Parts: sequence; structure tokens; C-alpha cells
Amino acid sequence: MSEPLVVIGNGMAAARLCDELSSRALGRYAVAVIGAEPRLAYNRVLLSSVLAGEVASSDIELKPPCWWRDRGITLRYGCRANAIDTAARTITLADGQSLPFSKLVFATGSQPIRPVIPGMDLPGVITFRDVNDIWTIWHRAGSGDRVVVIGGGLLGLEAAYGLAKASARVTVLHLMDQLMERQLDPKAAAMLLRAVEAMGIEVVLNADTAEISGTGRVEGVALKDGRTIEADAVVVAIGIRPSADLARDAGIAVARGIVVDDTLETNVPGIHAIGECAEHRGICYGLVQPAHEQARVLADRLAGRDTHYSGSVLATNLKVSGVNVFSVGNFLGGEDAEEILLSDPGIGIYKKLVVGDGRLIGAVLFGDTTDGLWYLDLIRSDANIDAIRNDLAFGRALADRMPAPTQLAA
Ligand SMILES: Cc1cc2nc3c(=O)[nH]c(=O)nc-3n(C[C@H](O)[C@H](O)[C@H](O)COP(=O)(O)OP(=O)(O)OC[C@H]3O[C@@H](n4cnc5c(N)ncnc54)[C@H](O)[C@@H]3O)c2cc1C
Repeated sequence: MSEPLVVIGNGMAAARLCDELSSRALGRYAVAVIGAEPRLAYNRVLLSSVLAGEVASSDIELKPPCWWRDRGITLRYGCRANAIDTAARTITLADGQSLPFSKLVFATGSQPIRPVIPGMDLPGVITFRDVNDIWTIWHRAGSGDRVVVIGGGLLGLEAAYGLAKASARVTVLHLMDQLMERQLDPKAAAMLLRAVEAMGIEVVLNADTAEISGTGRVEGVALKDGRTIEADAVVVAIGIRPSADLARDAGIAVARGIVVDDTLETNVPGIHAIGECAEHRGICYGLVQPAHEQARVLADRLAGRDTHYSGSVLATNLKVSGVNVFSVGNFLGGEDAEEILLSDPGIGIYKKLVVGDGRLIGAVLFGDTTDGLWYLDLIRSDANIDAIRNDLAFGRALADRMPAPTQLAA
């Protein structure tokens, strides 16, 4: 008889796990996927493009209904898992139903962080995480409306871009003194600022929000330095926190996220976590690539192979048309790191490559990002770059004249 395997969360990590599992151990498990959102798993990464009107919301589904059906996967979407009994090995669903499991996988993702400031509950304050949020944004922030986006990170800027394309009057408030400080060095951030402002988006740096004001609905945002910005809607995009409460309540070890080891198992045998809800070696990843890599490793393990996960290299791409930004790895460097810089402000190109111990360890690209994946490949392969260092900043054009990264690896 098939072993009951329940996946909680019907997002990108869950879909990839089912995909990987179906090619390795179809039939070994009776798989059930429980999803709180009332729809099939979709490509969340594309939500920014949906908001910008570049992709239709109907085109982001990851798998059609027949894909799940053909693999015998039981889908319960629009239904939250409310409690887990790790001793009895059962899950209680929002509709009161109880589901037994032999193996359990948390793939519950993250939730937007909501700052604790007055006015957060006013109608017109919106987060940016799921399809429902997009509909709310469209409903609340249309052409000519004044919209404040709190947060000048990747998500905030993508939201601002989408809103500006919909002819809203957009102001981005960012707490730090540069945009995307977690992905960009100051020079690239300054170029990004100019590019964003050229789109008609106002950016206020060093902007510490004190409160969202309004009577019955959003009317403005007040900063701690006394400035106020008028607003008809506020999109909050200041970060995410792993959805780990369900695990914590069940007595499973949670730090920031659900703590897993290199086998992606929690402190309770047979209970795993992958994707944004998981914390591995102290890191909670907020990108899809690590979720996919974890799904692959876990599928391997569930199929009986002795595979381990040792962490992921992070790469970020800003999805704003005409503004090419790419960042990967340790782009800030450190004491023992060296920097290779190529900068041409005249044509809006900036490249910073960080080298440590003869290897590429990080990169920031602005303007021309065509070589981003090539640099990512070099970092992942841990290849020694001494032989190509002279031309490294000139990128892929050189690749044809040199060995592949795997051949370079010492
Ligand atoms: C607008 C936007 C743009 C992004 N752009 C990029 C990008 O360019 N590159 C990139 O790498 N990443 C990007 N991301 C992040 C990427 O989408 C996530 O890293 C990825 O979705 C993580 O997958 P996940 O399965 O861990 O979480 P999710 O995809 O969030 O899935 C988790 C699911 O679990 C459900 N759930 C939670 N609790 C329960 C419960 N108790 N019971 C049942 N279901 C539950 C949630 O409702 C959700 O559907 C973006 C995210 C957003 C919002």
C-alpha cells in the first residue's frame, strides 16, 4: 500500500516537489497537497509581470488540472491546515477534517511583514504576495491615483513599476539611503535610482514611516521626520517572514523559519520543510531557486537516495522592463576579496565582479545583464578564474574562447 505523504502549501516549492517526486517514486506515496489559496499552484514570480500588464493572470498556472489528476495527487486547495498532531500523525484542516500522514512536508512559504504602525488596518493598505493582492491593488490603485509603496527592495520596485505603468502617481518610500541595499552596491543603486526616477516614480530615501493616516480610508503617509505624502492607497513591501506558526504550534523546532538539517528534515522524524518556510544552516531563502533545489533533494531522499542539501547561491534579477539589474553571491566582498570594476556611466553600464581566492564569489550588473547567468555558473562551479581574469568583466563574448566553467574547476 502507498505511504500517505501530505504536503502543506500549494505554492512553487510544493509543485516542484510533486514534479520531482513523480519522476522518481510515483506510486510509492499517496500524495495529498493542502493549499490555503483557492487555486492551483501558480508561478508567484510572475505576479510582478501580471501587475505590470505584461502577463495575463490566467497564464501563470504551473500545471494544468489534468497534470495533478494523471499523477494521482489529491489536491485540497482553498483549505488551510490548522493543526498538526505529531504523535498521532494527523493534520486538522480548516473544514474540521482530519488527515493521516506518514510523511509530512511543510511548503507554507512566507507572509509579507506588516509594520506595527498606526493606520495599517485602513482600507487601501495592501500587501503584494498573492493573486488576491493583485486584484486588490487593481481595485484600489488605478490611473491617476496617488500610491505610496513602502519598501524600495525588489518587490517594492516591481510593484511601483507595475503601478506606474497603470498610470498611478507613485512614490516609493525606502528606509535606507540606497535602493535594493541587500542586492546592490551603492554605485549600482545610484544608477537604479536614476532609472526609476526617469520612469516618473518619485523615490524618498531615508524615509522612516511613522503612520498611515486617514479617516475610514488611506489619505496619506506620515514620516518620522515630519514629512507627509498624500496617498489614495499604500502598498507595503518591506519584506517577508516564513510561515512557520503551524509548525511552531505543533512543537516542531522553529527559529526564524522551520529548522531543517542537510536532509531537509525537522527535529521530528518524517517531517520536512522546503522553500521559504524552511531555515537551513541559519538561512531562510526568499527566492525560488533554493526552493527548487530543496525540492529536488527532498524528492531524492523520499525516493530512497542519500542526497544532501548544502545551501544555494542566490541570484536576483529585477523584473522592470528596460532596467536591467542582476546580482549574485557575495557582491560586497570583504577583507580578502578583490573587485573588478567596469563602469561606463555614459551608456549606463556598470559591472562589479568580486573575486576571492582565485574564484568569482559575487557580481553586480547594471545596464547589461546578459552575462549574469554565466557569472552565476562560474560561482556555482567554484571554478578557478585565473586563466580568464583579464577578460572576465567582458563576459560571455569571451566564453567561446575559453573552457567551460566545469573544465576550469580546479
Ligand atoms: C511579486 C513577487 C515577485 C517575486 N519575484 C521573484 C523573482 O523574481 N525571483 C525569485 O527567485 N523569487 C521571486 N519571488 C519569490 C518567490 O515567489 C518565492 O520564493 C516562491 O514562491 C517560494 O515558494 P514557496 O513554495 O516556498 O512559497 P509560496 O509560493 O508562497 O507557497 C506557499 C503556499 O503555502 C500556502 N500556505 C501557507 N500556510 C498554509 C496552511 N496552513 N495550509 C495550507 N496552505 C498554506 C500559501 O497560501 C501559499 O500558497 C517573488 C515573490 C513575489 C510575491
